[in-house]
Amino acid sequence: MALTISKKAELVKPSSTLAITAKAAALRAEGKDIVGFGAGEPDFDTPDHIKEAAIKAIKEGFTKYTPASGIVPLKEAISKKFKELNHVEYAKDQIVISNGAKHSLTNIFTAIINEGDEVVIPAPYWLSYPEIVSLAGGIPVFVPTTMEENFKLTPEKLEKAITGKTKALILNSPSNPTGMIYSREELKAIAEIVVAKDIYVVADEIYEYLIYGEEEHVSIASLNEEIYKRTITCNGISKTYAMTGWRIGYTGSSREIAKLMGSIQSHQTSNPNSIAQMAALEAIGGSQETIEEMKKEFAARRDFIYERVCKMPYIKILRPQGAFYTFIDVSDVFAKKHKGEQIGSTDQMANILLEEYGVIVVPCEDFGFSDHIRLSYAISMSQIQKGMERIEAFIHSLV
Ligand code: PMP
Ligand code: GLU
Repeated sequence: MALTISKKAELVKPSSTLAITAKAAALRAEGKDIVGFGAGEPDFDTPDHIKEAAIKAIKEGFTKYTPASGIVPLKEAISKKFKELNHVEYAKDQIVISNGAKHSLTNIFTAIINEGDEVVIPAPYWLSYPEIVSLAGGIPVFVPTTMEENFKLTPEKLEKAITGKTKALILNSPSNPTGMIYSREELKAIAEIVVAKDIYVVADEIYEYLIYGEEEHVSIASLNEEIYKRTITCNGISKTYAMTGWRIGYTGSSREIAKLMGSIQSHQTSNPNSIAQMAALEAIGGSQETIEEMKKEFAARRDFIYERVCKMPYIKILRPQGAFYTFIDVSDVFAKKHKGEQIGSTDQMANILLEEYGVIVVPCEDFGFSDHIRLSYAISMSQIQKGMERIEAFIHSLV
């Protein structure tokens, strides 16, 4: 037999958000002055009380295997959070703790997908969804949304996208990359279709705390018993507690699916890191004070970028409501020239911004929108100010 490789694996693209983040770090290490709007990673440090919990866990020898789907006290803390914050009842045996929300999503789709099942993904979307679905044997079905719709899926569009093969819908609110939030009424209308068509909804709520105005975060599973049965809620501690490197995510689902995901995980990774689980217990169960401080800072950064972009020609933006991203329409830039060169793609634009202006932005081709870029505001205000000046200089150079 020839030394061939997996066809499924061959089709996987590397994560461009992680690649861009690594590129920024490498350029900085070379001494280059780079402003990186790439990373979807808070610049804050993990709060001290959480670090202390991890140090205590190490000192007390909490360094062995734990149950594969996570330790009971952490499941209890997550169950309490689901109840108090999200108004959803998930008992301990409905919760699976994994190595980050990305891993939770992999578990979910491995547990529910049969080869050829379709998964509806509203576009723009976080770039890992289609890859995770495809790796599990599913077929991503993209449903483009528009700026006029605030980049949110309408019930009409959802209904049209559902076929006899549809297994699930992915819903991400607050959204990466748009920062938009689904209201209770919008979720109710979507839930009606999900229930009528009898499909799953995978609710990615990882940015649930990062909301800057009056909008409320509503968990779709909390709406009624019928949608609860069909929802798999996915979440994690990376964003809320500035804990991207610790790798803890979790799900709330039916017992049947939780059991399957626990079994899958028991063979693939065993338990998530024991020390990180103790840190997560302190994060979720301990003081929540640092979240408010982070939110205040994120809100100021969002306002700053939004106001600057609004004043610039050729680019358009919606005011994000949550998460820490701005999603910017640059289609009019394509009609312009930079130093005599026609700009034909967001990749080309991103290259010019990096090479000539020292700014990293994320082209959104991999997010399903080839005429948008994403700027993350999970970097310091002084970096943002410098970066916006550079982008402004680029925009004003266009003729
Ligand atoms: N969902 C969304 C929408 C995200 O932006 C991210 C960011 N990486 C994740 C899930 C996964 O986060 P993590 O694996 O760090 O928990
Ligand atoms: N989710 C973040 C982002 O979109 C982190 C990188 C990743 O995991 O994709 O930038």
